[in-house]
Amino acid sequence: MPRKSILDNKNERIRFRRKLLAWFRRHGRDLPWRRTRDPYQILVSEVMLQQTQVSRVTEYWPRFLESFPTVQHLAAASPKRVREAWEGLGYYRRAENLRRAARVVVTDHAGEMPQKVAILRSLPGIGAYTAGAVASFAFELAEPAIDTNVSRVLRRAFHPRVKKGAAGDQKLWKVAKELVPRDGNAAWATNQALMELGALICTARVMRCEICPVRKECLSSRTK
Ligand code: SF4
Repeated sequence: MPRKSILDNKNERIRFRRKLLAWFRRHGRDLPWRRTRDPYQILVSEVMLQQTQVSRVTEYWPRFLESFPTVQHLAAASPKRVREAWEGLGYYRRAENLRRAARVVVTDHAGEMPQKVAILRSLPGIGAYTAGAVASFAFELAEPAIDTNVSRVLRRAFHPRVKKGAAGDQKLWKVAKELVPRDGNAAWATNQALMELGALICTARVMRCEICPVRKECLSSRTK
């Protein structure tokens, strides 16, 4: 009989999270956008990270923020200027969407970045992941944020047989929601740690289960 997912057991869920967070505290990278809770700065980093490597974003992110230090600066900038600041990052539609999102924040939300996921999602170019990331990383709300790294970890750790597509995605969001704690700072850390595990240990190319902090709780590892 296949073993049940640890999500069915609250204590195991807590154990998974505890081990994950302990590992993240020791091995998580000190990335510059992890040092801020400014929602505008976090939005910029998340949009850049969508299709660009971390090392490149660490170079571009501070430079872009120097040119457009606040959401008001970005909203007032011309498309040409924003595109020039984005030069080298590629996928220029992201820059244009970011500028349009900034304009909506200034005109419809008095320059204050919305906190609620549903409102964040209504901004141009902001999907489910980015909305969850801003809610969690800026406002420390107990919201999940599933990017490709987190999706891979959740699929491997809890539901290896989840199919691709909308129904599978919905199930993953439910899994993530159960995993993210209510406490704001712990919610922030859990989302960051899941991403970091997917980026460093449970990667698309290789599963480094032998050094993985949650190998005892992971369904894929248990059934190997
Ligand atoms: S034990 Fe292996 S499969 Fe499971 S999360 Fe860790 S690296 Fe991924």
